[in-house]
Amino acid sequence: MAARPPDLLPIHRVGIGTDLHRLGAARPLRLGGIDVPHESGFVAHSDGDVVLHALIDALFGAAGLPDIGDHFPDSDSRYAGADSRSLLGHCLAELCAAGWQVVNVDVTIEAERPRLSGVKPAIRASLAELLGLPASAVAVKAKSREGLDAIGRGEAIACVAVAGLNRCKEEPR
Ligand code: MG
Repeated sequence: MAARPPDLLPIHRVGIGTDLHRLGAARPLRLGGIDVPHESGFVAHSDGDVVLHALIDALFGAAGLPDIGDHFPDSDSRYAGADSRSLLGHCLAELCAAGWQVVNVDVTIEAERPRLSGVKPAIRASLAELLGLPASAVAVKAKSREGLDAIGRGEAIACVAVAGLNRCKEEPR
């Protein structure tokens, strides 16, 4: 049967993922696989990319698989400084092996600083490329916290992600 574009396929599963990391490290700020200009980056075992971490948990969750911490423990030195794009690659390979393909993703980034309105298109393009999806199947939103809590004080950035999956082959027995 000929493959159809993912955005035309029905969604069979939905998953949600969230993540938060503190800011303050002398490293680039990585969001959705791209470096965003800012005075500091994430304090984290890996590159701290909250967008990809939330997305990976949404994808694993939709497939009914264990979470990102079970797959890539922060106690494991192999993941020290890890590029989260490669973690997403492992996640997508596991989903494919389990018979799932990604239909769409919807991401909300919670950040007071930096302001993300100017970089949302680049993050969207990065996610579409990493996921092999058309841009129409990828949404990236940004919200501030009105100056409240740690995110509102610019001390952290968080992300909430939702992902839809469809079966691309029969479930393994
Ligand atoms: Mg994380």
